[in-house]
Amino acid sequence: MISIAIHGGAGTLLKGAMTAEKEEEYKAALQLALAKGYAVLEKGGTSVDAVEQAVICLEDSHLFNAGKGSVFTATGKHEMDASIMEGESLQAGAVSLVSGIKNPVALAKDVMQKSNHVFLAGDGAMEFAKSLKYSLEPDSYFYDELRYNQWQEIKDSDSFQLDHSDKKDSKFGTVGAVACDVNGNLAAATSTGGMTNKKFGRIGDSPMIGAGNYANNKTCAVSCTGSGEFFIRGVAAYDVSALMEFKNLSLNDAAAEVVQKRLMEIKGDGGLIAVDANGNIAMPFNTEGMYRACKNSESLEEISIYKD
Ligand code: ASP
Repeated sequence: MISIAIHGGAGTLLKGAMTAEKEEEYKAALQLALAKGYAVLEKGGTSVDAVEQAVICLEDSHLFNAGKGSVFTATGKHEMDASIMEGESLQAGAVSLVSGIKNPVALAKDVMQKSNHVFLAGDGAMEFAKSLKYSLEPDSYFYDELRYNQWQEIKDSDSFQLDHSDKKDSKFGTVGAVACDVNGNLAAATSTGGMTNKKFGRIGDSPMIGAGNYANNKTCAVSCTGSGEFFIRGVAAYDVSALMEFKNLSLNDAAAEVVQKRLMEIKGDGGLIAVDANGNIAMPFNTEGMYRACKNSESLEEISIYKD
């Protein structure tokens, strides 16, 4: 069974602050990304290409905290992180603290396929991009009024925070995708702008293999969203896989154990999407909502934001 799941971040606007119009806008963006990724799988394409295409589509939307919609850092810039992994050979690629790159997930894929490394950061990652003739977008491409206002509110303080709504509830707009292709190969990709007003070269879980992103054909592919520090400390994405491999838990049980129990025990808020080699999908979260969608070849199709 081919299947794909995507997320546009856990947290979301509080139900009261969400208008019907906004909800439609988010759902349409999720629907488009889901269709892009699923089309790759339907044509017999690989799970790696499917998750890359879905994430590129989400990065190109201003609604999510990744690519175009990335949040502002303490110095008013955009520093993005992304990763991708494929479950057959455990090949992986990741970049962090990159600027001006329209689609950081594509750069992460190039690290995986065109370098001998897994993880490139900052100036080095930018040099690598230049060597592959990536063109850079001007700052104006990444400007978004909502993100700018979020930054203005806290820019003179020491606080840094996850992408949030007007009401200051937590909202994480990181994006991700997981897929199982026609050959039963799994892949996961995750991309983020990180946290508003972040400084000191802060890097979250999204580009860290095993923390925010993981894929292994033996078990599952996982992409996380939430307070990155907790997902790093809980090695959350790999933990789902380990529970399946070493404790024989099902995808659903393993994903729920990590999100509803282990992360909550350390006060980690967020969620994840996961798929196994049989095409089963899990999308648990412990926040008010998580922008999410999934589709498989057995006519499952879901696009949701809140719990119900
Ligand atoms: N996990 C991301 C980070 O900590 C944030 C998010 O999910 O929106 O950078």
